[in-house]
Amino acid sequence: MKFLCADWLLTCDEDFTIIKDGAIVFDSHIVEVSTYEKLQEKYPNENIEYLGTNSCLMPGLINTHTHLEFSANKTSLKYGNFVDWLFSVITHREKLVEKATKKYIDFELKKMIQNGTTTIGAISSYGYDLESCVESPLNVVYFTEALGSKQDMIDTLFADFKAKLQTAQKYASDHFIPAVAIHSPYSTHPFLIREVLQIAKENGMAVSAHFQESKAENEWLNHSCGEFEKFFKSMLDQKSSLTTPMNFLNQFQGIKPLSFTHCVEANKQELEKIKQLGASIIHCPNSNRLLNNATLNLSYLNDIPMAMGTDGLSSNHTLNMFEEMKSALFIHNNLEPNQLAQKLLKSATSGGAKALGVQKGVLQKGYDADIISFILADEIEDQEDIAMAILLHTNSTTHTYIGGNDELHK
Ligand SMILES: [Zn+2]
Repeated sequence: MKFLCADWLLTCDEDFTIIKDGAIVFDSHIVEVSTYEKLQEKYPNENIEYLGTNSCLMPGLINTHTHLEFSANKTSLKYGNFVDWLFSVITHREKLVEKATKKYIDFELKKMIQNGTTTIGAISSYGYDLESCVESPLNVVYFTEALGSKQDMIDTLFADFKAKLQTAQKYASDHFIPAVAIHSPYSTHPFLIREVLQIAKENGMAVSAHFQESKAENEWLNHSCGEFEKFFKSMLDQKSSLTTPMNFLNQFQGIKPLSFTHCVEANKQELEKIKQLGASIIHCPNSNRLLNNATLNLSYLNDIPMAMGTDGLSSNHTLNMFEEMKSALFIHNNLEPNQLAQKLLKSATSGGAKALGVQKGVLQKGYDADIISFILADEIEDQEDIAMAILLHTNSTTHTYIGGNDELHK
């Protein structure tokens, strides 16, 4: 068992409980969380390691949505308009995927651990990121993606999906969890969605889908017009949308755990439906900004659980979750910043765990021992200021424990 203590311990539980002079006991799971004083009394013969002046302990960060196969993008893709970006992805896809070698992806995963991420939701389009994800000490919920809207291709697409999923399932372990992703309502045929969701249901797998990311998507799904009209005509000779936002959402009845990424264009009824489904919304603020999509209105989410993701490097400059939270702090200028900082830290920990269906993200007895520590920039007088201080001044860790092992000092 390991014994650690720090000046501050953030549990990231529902009430955002903070323990001053906090301490934690863990092996692969968390055994106990309390004050240093109490744990010293209980374990008088153990040496509780003090992490230093202004040290802080909290749960590891959970990046619920990323696309590792697009890690090689720096300047290839067009930003500023969603449809232009999508065209540029299609144009450069092959070259980018080829460039994102195992070595390249391994390097990004290693950086994520240094930046305090302990769990990721990896959306895999081709399966080229499989080896890296299996070998990485990170916890990976590995989403095999279903994509394709051409009716006469459905059998082939479904067979291809099943083969990829079966390969992923061979590697299932405590830290590699196969799951299912639907690319989006505009790009995945409703029949294919139905079949794929059936498999997810039978296997109790987590499911995630992009939803209502852009104005173009919203106009196409509702009225078969807008910027996507040209896109679908030229790429697929398709004249109208195959589904509506509500018909799409209805297909997910009974799926758990479930998450929808972006949702910036979702209307009240659609948000209500997401809530009814018990799904989480995954917020990727940097990606939304770069593709000039709307800002997710956090005050509209009400009781819908929120998680955070960086999306891929195809629509971000970094996979660092501290950076993502910092961006969100400045983007959502309609919310009180201290409360927002707390909400973001909860979304990036316990919120992420809920979206992916894992027992992580809270420093509490029985949870997986995914724990990070870092040194705050300076002394904190009032504990209410700690969330803001972390978001402004932290972007890496001194220790990143995953399943109880310090992956930074092996
Ligand atoms: Zn995405």
